[in-house]
Amino acid sequence: MSGGTKLDTRVIHAGEPRPRVAGAVTLPIFQSATFENPPGTDYHDLGYIRLSTTPNHVALHRKLADLEGGEAALVTASGMAAITTALMTVVHPGEHLLAQDCLYGGTHDFITREFARLQVDFDFVAGDDADSWAAHLKPNTRAIYVETMTNPLLAVADLPAVVEFARAHDLVSLIDNTFATPVNFRPLEHGFDLVLHSATKYLNGHSDLVAGVVVGAGQRVGRIKRALDLYGGALDPHACFLLQRGLKTLGLRMARHNANAQALAEMLSAHPAVARVHYPGLPDHPHHRRAADLFAGCGGVLSFELEDPGLAPGTIERLELMTNAPSLGGVETLITRPATTSHAGMAREDRERLGIGDGLIRIAVGIEHPDDLVRDLTQALP
Ligand code: PLP
Repeated sequence: MSGGTKLDTRVIHAGEPRPRVAGAVTLPIFQSATFENPPGTDYHDLGYIRLSTTPNHVALHRKLADLEGGEAALVTASGMAAITTALMTVVHPGEHLLAQDCLYGGTHDFITREFARLQVDFDFVAGDDADSWAAHLKPNTRAIYVETMTNPLLAVADLPAVVEFARAHDLVSLIDNTFATPVNFRPLEHGFDLVLHSATKYLNGHSDLVAGVVVGAGQRVGRIKRALDLYGGALDPHACFLLQRGLKTLGLRMARHNANAQALAEMLSAHPAVARVHYPGLPDHPHHRRAADLFAGCGGVLSFELEDPGLAPGTIERLELMTNAPSLGGVETLITRPATTSHAGMAREDRERLGIGDGLIRIAVGIEHPDDLVRDLTQALP
């Protein structure tokens, strides 16, 4: 859309077909596996769901590319399909990847299990310690992979240094921007090459589908699309429709997620039963300054530790509004203990080394009224 148009307007109008299809104000669902080939067109023009070329895919790709400020976007059948297809397209057997430590569990497991099996070499690096990265560089290093904020401690890597390092060493820089969304941070504007999302979370926002997104330069996204065409991880048109609908309220939702998480983080910080709160919007978070410089808001995820970690399960059980469930990014507030969900597969020593103890509680704050969330948490805390 035109340069000055605000993101809250672009989420609604960008990428929508003009003229409208049969005048429909909302793009209908094209639930057709294949489309007629008019004379003069060839295989590359084919409309087919697995090739991500239905009208629902095309409109959604245009909207997502516009929101992240990229030339092209691609939707996939899950966040993991976006991540694995992008990584396998960028880094090949016999090459080497640098990846931030404490990545999302699925991404970490893909690298350590599948990349190891496919003979792709890798090293994990501390996102905060740019000076240590060069020591892990190899002649065959192809890419560096980070997340905008880590789960569940909300560490913010030195993102400008990642871009600088990638450029200096001719690496492709990839970032999982799920936790920030383009409302809070647009990595391509800061020089990242590829942006990935689990659209299952904030982009869709209603906890009712699983989807992924890749955004970047046209040629790069084209190569990833050709791999996706073969791996078969295309998104269904009905899910495209739901994601497109969800995106239209992204600006409003993120503003409330940001404000609600900040309110809960401040309330928890002042509570006598709470030992520590992890949220980059708080001045005592180790990456508060960096987050304030880079992000328009710190998103809806925070975590905290009780003075007595043994009281964590009872606290969760007493909650009335917040639901004990994994995932994040939906309108409803979810709460979990990462040691029993996202990080359950990890050995206790490894978890504790990363600062994820048995008593750590993560809240994926929804968009309910903040007063009700504060009241629910206050009555549940010891
Ligand atoms: N990236 C992040 C940061 C996530 O939190 C998740 C899922 O929790 C994923 C990727 C994977 O996404 P999906 O479950 O849509 O495959």
